[in-house]
Amino acid sequence: MFEDIPVDVSPMNEGERIRSANMFVELAGPKSIGAELVQVEESVEDGKIEVIGPELNEMKQGEIFPFGIKIQIQGENLEKELEGVIERRTHELCNYVHGFMHLNQRDQIWCRVSTEAIESDFKLEHLGKALSILFKEEFTLIESIAVTLFTEEDQVKSFLNLAKEQYIQRDARSRELSDEDVDVFYGCLMCQSFAPTHMCVVTPDRTALCGAINWFDCRAASKMDPDGPIFEMEKGEVLDSEKGEYSNVNETIAEKSQGTTERVYVHGVFDYPHTSCGCFEAVAFYIPELDGIGVVDREFRGETPLGIPFSSMAGQCSGGKQVEGFTGLSLEYMRSPKFLQADGAYGRIIWMPNEMKQSLQEFIPEELWDKIPTEEDATSIQDIEQYLIDHQHPIVDRFLKPEDEIEEDGTQVEGEETKHEEPSNITVTTAPEISMPASGGVKIIFKNAKIYAEKVIIKRK
Ligand code: SF4
Ligand SMILES: [Zn+2]
Repeated sequence: MFEDIPVDVSPMNEGERIRSANMFVELAGPKSIGAELVQVEESVEDGKIEVIGPELNEMKQGEIFPFGIKIQIQGENLEKELEGVIERRTHELCNYVHGFMHLNQRDQIWCRVSTEAIESDFKLEHLGKALSILFKEEFTLIESIAVTLFTEEDQVKSFLNLAKEQYIQRDARSRELSDEDVDVFYGCLMCQSFAPTHMCVVTPDRTALCGAINWFDCRAASKMDPDGPIFEMEKGEVLDSEKGEYSNVNETIAEKSQGTTERVYVHGVFDYPHTSCGCFEAVAFYIPELDGIGVVDREFRGETPLGIPFSSMAGQCSGGKQVEGFTGLSLEYMRSPKFLQADGAYGRIIWMPNEMKQSLQEFIPEELWDKIPTEEDATSIQDIEQYLIDHQHPIVDRFLKPEDEIEEDGTQVEGEETKHEEPSNITVTTAPEISMPASGGVKIIFKNAKIYAEKVIIKRK
């Protein structure tokens, strides 16, 4: 079936990572632009593969090109609602191709081609061919398929605009319903190939954290393939509507995570937050010093108030782990009226990147707009604190003790006690006493550790 393709195509290649040392070129990704889009159309020329722009043999080692993957499909029983779910499989299916690496989704894609693949004379045309075969195999409803791959900048730009319009339309649809309006939610296990205990809970108010799948998409997908990775689950008893905890969601996640996660709050970051596989568009993170929550998205390259960039934070809370104080989420979820409602919604948000903030202008309550700082206002805890006080962010009531006062000029006068209360809902573990050997010294390595101390004393002997 894949005889015309000079590299191996199989699920075995899925875990392949192409690092800079064995990379020939990079396509899309953080240093360029790109997108992927699946479109259901009435008539499609089956098997048509087109590369618009330079092919791999016209590129030089180390170059970066913009990249677009457009997949047109036709089938009597194919509904437009299936586009999102079918499109989400592009990631997995591209990775079946040995020597080609695909990360993320939608307009966040990031691809690489290995030098080994180039030596075998692999071309983008072959990627298109492999995708057309794999998609038809995976989705029997597809009767005809055409794949267009763009590498020419202007073409990618106009394709990207088209794709963004489609994403906006799909996302807007999810806002028609609320969690209360339905009896069933959906579970998605697609990311278990690399995060074996992770299950996404998709509700009308919480679009999946990859941002590519909403409740309507799941409904269509589970109807099309009831035994597939997306399945319907009854909500069961509402245990806490504010936090978004449901008896049957808990039972299902316990089963699907092999007992690793037993409870989940769909709308909060504390206690039992939604687990994160790794493809989240953004991460919400607790800032204990100010008892508030920050959010950072994949696009942001700088340091967050926790002193680490998005990439390090993503590493700490991905893999399907339930890490209290952190949750991966989609940008669409930030447009939901239930966005982190268990924790105080936008009233608890005390930092986010400027670009993200601008994109959410319609959704951030007007009275909070000027009160939430971005990297342009502050990034250190002290500066954020001052900004929040100066702009009278409602969080200030939480972290200032009653005996603290704010002078008319906005400066804060501390009360007798320390002004930050210890967050009540975060478990604080006390380290056991360690006795140091008299000579030779010790090396202590903390991995994934967060240490809060009232005082640290280091004395010279
Ligand atoms: S991130 Fe969640 S919803 Fe998206 S593909 Fe993975 S498991 Fe499914
Ligand atoms: Zn994922």
